[in-house]
Amino acid sequence: MNKIRMTNGSELPLEMHKVKIVQKIALKPIERRLEAIKEAGNNTFMLNNRDIFLDMLTDSGVNAMSDRQQAAMLLADDSYAGSESFYRLEASVKKVFEKKYFLPAHQGRACEHLLSRVLIKQGDIVPMNFHFTTTRAHIRLQGGDILEIPNDEALKLKSVHPFKGSLDIDKLKQAFKDHGERIPFVRLEAGTNLIGGQPISLQNIKETHAVCKQHGVPLMLDASLLQDNLFFIKTREAEYKDKSVLEICNEVARNVDIIYFSARKFGNGRGGGICLNDDAVYEKLRELIPLFEGYVTYGGMSVKEMEAIAVGIEETMDMDMISQGPGFIKYMADELIKAGVPVVTPAGGLGCHLDAGSFLPHIKGEEFPAASLASALYIISGVRGMERGTMSEERNADGSEGVSAIELVRLAMPRRVFTMSQINFAIDRIAWLFKNRDIIGGLRWKEEPKILRFFNGKLEPLNDWQERLVQKFKQDFEDSL
Ligand SMILES: *Cc1c(COP(=O)(O)O)cnc(C)c1O
Repeated sequence: MNKIRMTNGSELPLEMHKVKIVQKIALKPIERRLEAIKEAGNNTFMLNNRDIFLDMLTDSGVNAMSDRQQAAMLLADDSYAGSESFYRLEASVKKVFEKKYFLPAHQGRACEHLLSRVLIKQGDIVPMNFHFTTTRAHIRLQGGDILEIPNDEALKLKSVHPFKGSLDIDKLKQAFKDHGERIPFVRLEAGTNLIGGQPISLQNIKETHAVCKQHGVPLMLDASLLQDNLFFIKTREAEYKDKSVLEICNEVARNVDIIYFSARKFGNGRGGGICLNDDAVYEKLRELIPLFEGYVTYGGMSVKEMEAIAVGIEETMDMDMISQGPGFIKYMADELIKAGVPVVTPAGGLGCHLDAGSFLPHIKGEEFPAASLASALYIISGVRGMERGTMSEERNADGSEGVSAIELVRLAMPRRVFTMSQINFAIDRIAWLFKNRDIIGGLRWKEEPKILRFFNGKLEPLNDWQERLVQKFKQDFEDSL
């Protein structure tokens, strides 16, 4: 999308699509929202959708489909083996990634499972720019481990670095010196999820690839969030500003050896897949598909979803489409910064990230600042975000709380889903909450599961701060929801 400048000089992230199908949502009264968050144990994962106004938990499998995707789904060819839908998807994937082979899988983590099974052995180490939760779990499951070597800016919440997701090349060279034989492949994650949807530069991909080649080790790309990353390469990396999105995507692909993706994000559907040229690795992976996923011409995906993804990937090669998410996220971050609210900068893809540690400096890590903020935000707005802080960590070996170095509330921006007025509403309520942040208090465990506790653990407030927050809200907004 070309930049749209308004009369007053400001820029507007103008939508290059119109709405054809809508889903009704409701903003329940604040009294119900208070009840609902208590029932959910102050864990936004445990809220029921019917109590949520804007669901900003994740961008996974909840992006809006286009009319062309919906139309393609009607053409789906139902067949266990040899479905036309698979061949259409394969052609679409090969056009953007230009690899000899494409293998289907039911979602991103399934690709990680199969790739780890084939490529990882006990004691292996995988250098990467940053881990993703399911990636790390699958590598460890096979007896390997990860080595994170992002650049020095990656973990700074406030930064102006255009490519915070890039890998530190010197540290990669050192890793080969230190671990040599134990490195089966190097992994780059596009649109680095856990550090705030931050991109890698194409320059960095090329440099990483050169080092991998020197050592005869393949470079793997997790392309789940590649659409945002392609947008940032085109807009932030001068050399590529006149290249088309497809040309940039092809060049990314030529500089990596194995590509996998979650089509819950890349392709706007629900599924995934792996692309590569290596015959031997392909043969090993192919044997596993019928065992874990489904026959090799659907890999656990429905034929309808394969059609939708085929068209979704084609549509991803269009700036009008891939600029919407980053445009809205930047708008939201800029407006929040104007209101003094601490957010992760520069704005990335995926979502807007509130820096809960700076938002609530009076709440100790052991009292879950990010979870408290996510809970407070839901109460006063019906907006559901995701806690990414101490609650998402694990306890230390000695049983003490594993306090996280950074406390974030992620407000995901599912693509083409929300309108500008909905985003303005969220901004307004977050700014109000920031002014009233002193009212927000901490939380403590009520029910703490042993494994992945953030998914279904329950917390309770340390005192009556939530009731006081509701009181102040009603004073300020009177009869407004
Ligand atoms: C979502 C995601 C995955 C996992 O994909 P699923 O389809 O949810 O299994 C892997 N890597 C990254 C970077 C992701 O964002």
